Amino acid sequence: MELKILENIEIAQNTFSLKIDNPNLFDALAGQFFMVRINGFNYPLLRRPFSIADFNENYIEIIYRVVGEGTKILTKKKAGEFIDILGPLGNGFSDIGTGKKIFLVGGGIGVAPLIYLKNVIESQYRLPYKAYFGFNFKEEIYVDFGEIATMDGSVGFNGNVVDLVEKELDENSIVFACGPTLMLKRLAYVCYDKNCKMQVSLESRMACGIGVCLGCVVETQDGYKKVCDNGPVFDYREIVWQAL
Ligand SMILES: Cc1cc2nc3c(=O)[nH]c(=O)nc-3n(C[C@H](O)[C@H](O)[C@H](O)COP(=O)(O)OP(=O)(O)OC[C@H]3O[C@@H](n4cnc5c(N)ncnc54)[C@H](O)[C@@H]3O)c2cc1C
Repeated sequence: MELKILENIEIAQNTFSLKIDNPNLFDALAGQFFMVRINGFNYPLLRRPFSIADFNENYIEIIYRVVGEGTKILTKKKAGEFIDILGPLGNGFSDIGTGKKIFLVGGGIGVAPLIYLKNVIESQYRLPYKAYFGFNFKEEIYVDFGEIATMDGSVGFNGNVVDLVEKELDENSIVFACGPTLMLKRLAYVCYDKNCKMQVSLESRMACGIGVCLGCVVETQDGYKKVCDNGPVFDYREIVWQAL
């Protein structure tokens, strides 16, 4: 689907917000993602997966970090140009209104889908929640709510976001998390320890995004599953964390 770009601006160091016109033809769950064709030529050939950072009747937002060739080309896109997106794909976060204490825990670019989740919790569920986000340093921060941890101590808690949130969690908590694999792994061990619920949105190198190429499999208690098709959101108890 070719949609018009409304805005594509740098909002933090190496981090861009891409807002795309929303034709109101479909709905999207927090946690789902789009496969984006970077340009109309066949380079780069493969679409790139990006989570939904916001979705409303006016626009769809993607927040992306520039890491390689595809995202570098994406930064050159201008308002008024069109972009081809496929989706929304995958599953989303679920069981949001379970009566448990809600925690959003994100790291780096993994905070992006939790911004949309926060908007859904506020507008549809009207439930209280707490948010904890980790970044390496001040210039990387692109979110304006939640408690912040930075690895260099330039903003908020000095250290890892898992250390910041750990003491808050107990068996009445439900955590929605997205971020680097190592962060999610540490958080998973904490959640096992505290016996709380958690859903994690996993990132895996992905080629097709629609369950065909098997490039993004992850080991689960039920064998290998596709992050694009069976995920990207999983119950953390399903994942074989030792294999990651
Ligand atoms: C479900 C999902 C949601 C994501 N959401 C976001 C988001 O909201 N914002 C954001 O900045 N990034 C997100 N990513 C990561 C993003 O897809 C990669 O950073 C991006 O594809 C890199 O493309 P590139 O051409 O710049 O890098 P290159 O390294 O040149 O990419 C080469 C190839 O590897 C794949 N690839 C590289 N890194 C990743 C990665 N981490 N995950 C999956 N495929 C990768 C690319 O799709 C491409 O096929 C998400 C990944 C997944 C799987």
